[in-house]
Amino acid sequence: MTDREQPVLPPQDAPANPYRREFLWVLGGVGAAVGAGLAGWGALELMVPPGTADQWHKSVCRFCGTGCTIRVGLRDGQIVDIRGHESGHNRGVICVKGSMLRELPRIEGRLTRPMIRKGGKLVEAGWDEALDLVAARFGEIRDAHGPDALAFYGSGQLFTEESYTANKLFKAGLRTNNVDGNPRLCMASAAAGYVSVYGKDEPPGSYEDIDHADVLLLFGANPYECHPPLWERIQRRRAADPRVYTICVDPRLSPTAKRCDLHLPVVPGTDLLLLNAMARVMVEDGLVNRAFVDRHVRFARDGHTVGFDEFAAFLADYTPPAVAGRLGIGADVIRHVAHRFARAGAAMSLWTMGANQRTQGTALNIMLNALHLLTGQIGRPGATPFSITGQPNACGGVRDTGALAHALPGGRQVTNEAHRREVEKLWGVPEGTISPRPGYHAVELFRALEDGRVKGALILCTNPAQSMPDCDRYAAAMDKAFTVVSEIVADSETAKTASVLLPAALWCEKQGVLGQGERRYQLVDKLIDPPGEARPDLWILTQLAERLGLGQLIKARTPQEVWDEWRHMSAHSVYNFEGMTYERLRALPGLQWPCPTEDHPGTVRRYVEGDDPFVSKGAGIEFYGQKDKRAVITLCPYVPSPEQPGEDYPLYLTTGRVLEQWHTGTMTGRIAELGGAAGPARFMVSPADAAARGVSSGDMVEFSSRFGSVRGRAVTDPDLRPGLVFAAFYDARLLVNRVVADHVDPVSKEPEFKLTAVQFRKIRD
Ligand code: SF4
Repeated sequence: MTDREQPVLPPQDAPANPYRREFLWVLGGVGAAVGAGLAGWGALELMVPPGTADQWHKSVCRFCGTGCTIRVGLRDGQIVDIRGHESGHNRGVICVKGSMLRELPRIEGRLTRPMIRKGGKLVEAGWDEALDLVAARFGEIRDAHGPDALAFYGSGQLFTEESYTANKLFKAGLRTNNVDGNPRLCMASAAAGYVSVYGKDEPPGSYEDIDHADVLLLFGANPYECHPPLWERIQRRRAADPRVYTICVDPRLSPTAKRCDLHLPVVPGTDLLLLNAMARVMVEDGLVNRAFVDRHVRFARDGHTVGFDEFAAFLADYTPPAVAGRLGIGADVIRHVAHRFARAGAAMSLWTMGANQRTQGTALNIMLNALHLLTGQIGRPGATPFSITGQPNACGGVRDTGALAHALPGGRQVTNEAHRREVEKLWGVPEGTISPRPGYHAVELFRALEDGRVKGALILCTNPAQSMPDCDRYAAAMDKAFTVVSEIVADSETAKTASVLLPAALWCEKQGVLGQGERRYQLVDKLIDPPGEARPDLWILTQLAERLGLGQLIKARTPQEVWDEWRHMSAHSVYNFEGMTYERLRALPGLQWPCPTEDHPGTVRRYVEGDDPFVSKGAGIEFYGQKDKRAVITLCPYVPSPEQPGEDYPLYLTTGRVLEQWHTGTMTGRIAELGGAAGPARFMVSPADAAARGVSSGDMVEFSSRFGSVRGRAVTDPDLRPGLVFAAFYDARLLVNRVVADHVDPVSKEPEFKLTAVQFRKIRD
């Protein structure tokens, strides 16, 4: 690693160009006109200067998990315009990040040649030299220390074909289950919740349910900034029916919370008390749909089935008066919310990282699903639980292909012998090839790099040196090991740690399928050439397989060959998308699985007869992922977070995103309009907390936690409650994750990014 000293931040307490930011916010559809339903995004998009495209191609935005369908305008082999595609689920709406996609291939600092670290410095090399070196070192490590000394760390931004191939190469070829990726940091609790409740991952409903819901519970989600087309869809729904009621649960008065009908500013970390208390009210006030529950639901405690009465008795500790003080929400408000939800014609809950990135993330996910099951608010238009996703292919590429340390393709588990046998047969490898031991989940994988259990790692399409909690510790761990990093730029925090750095093609420079949060797969076609010698990650993987002597295992070499292999394999599971050929995906704005045949229209509502092809005739609703076809509600006691504010660290830090930047800013931070609009990252603090420390808005401060410290500018935000600090993690000049705790959920192993006890003090500028 070359340098992790923190650069000096420029003085600022406002974006460099306020007008530009204002323009982008309006363009992004978050302005007052759209908010009031007086105008639509289509009208606002007219503000974008017309491009000069002479060809248009359907594609998909490669940023967030909303998965917007777009039109890409080309001229002279260059991308010159981006528009929302009217046929997509996003109905032509895109946000500011999507509208600036045309600049992405041209960002400054693109990596164009492989590089090898020699004498502490990265120097240019040829592809053969770099790949031969990687194969030789991986072979040596495997021979000397066993297969579990190797690891793959992937991304919810790789194409499905790439994640599928990496998973197969490492689990069946190199014979290690050390395959994990950044979806562990954002989606693992959602996946664990769905698997616990329904036996299978991925949401039952669709974005379309927003159009039918009359109560929308936004729980730990900020779609106004993070998933703007979904927020716009909610706004349209509200405009169409003024009786629609929106509730936002968030410790922070986020831009979304400000615009909802009711904001519940719960004390950070206590929101499982709210969900259990809502369940308690439902039981106590006769709001439970007993007919639905008796037919479709089972209750469990510590892995054993229990009756409804035991569930009801468990909730006795969670009466509204008993939890109101800890939650910071009045008992009457808890009752009100439980009644509004249960009595709705159709209630939809939408949640994201506020529920997932928690040490009780799995429990929160179970209980969000449970509220729907208790009240029968599921399986009808508008009635559904829905976990919004953060990356464009965390669902399709990683969760569905099983590219995680505990998983195998199609919802199978490495610890299940029958599942291993099935996958070995489908992959054509001898019985016993796949290890029965789960690999290292993300945090453990980086700890294994630190202590030498893992000595060589392939890291594709992600930036863990910035995105991991306690990131300095894990950057140092990467520095120590033999790390092979494929990147689009040479100076990301992770690229700086690489032993071998490989130039990657991105988005329309290659071909592949993205699977977003509503089980929808969409095809990205190659439209332009990558710069210099940059190559698709699939090419890198197949070349590596060949050099490792695993060419016979990784026979599919082109994206379509891989897709067809995976598509046919999916037919042996309830994740069946056999009917989704490249031709259909090219012609349509995506398809939702299950989709078993080439004439199947896809499945909007899962587990519902007439829509989902796996539901038995006459069943109506059937949760077929569970053996007895009943959804399981596990009793989830509230356990406080290990991060509790105290004398040394009296404040809570919570992290998140802003509208104009995405993830670690490797891409959006280099697009001038977006970078300029967001400005440098800063810590947002309450005026009271700033005043108590003699800090004025814009002052330099040092934040510290039990995990580390970081210097940056503090800006006061009157919307923040005292005791709460907010920071976004998009800016490498303010490595917020240096101070973030790396505690993980015991089931999902997802880190608790949302809560770290911190302190700050003024320092000299
Ligand atoms: S960043 Fe997300 S919301 Fe914005 S256009 Fe892309 S997919 Fe859509």
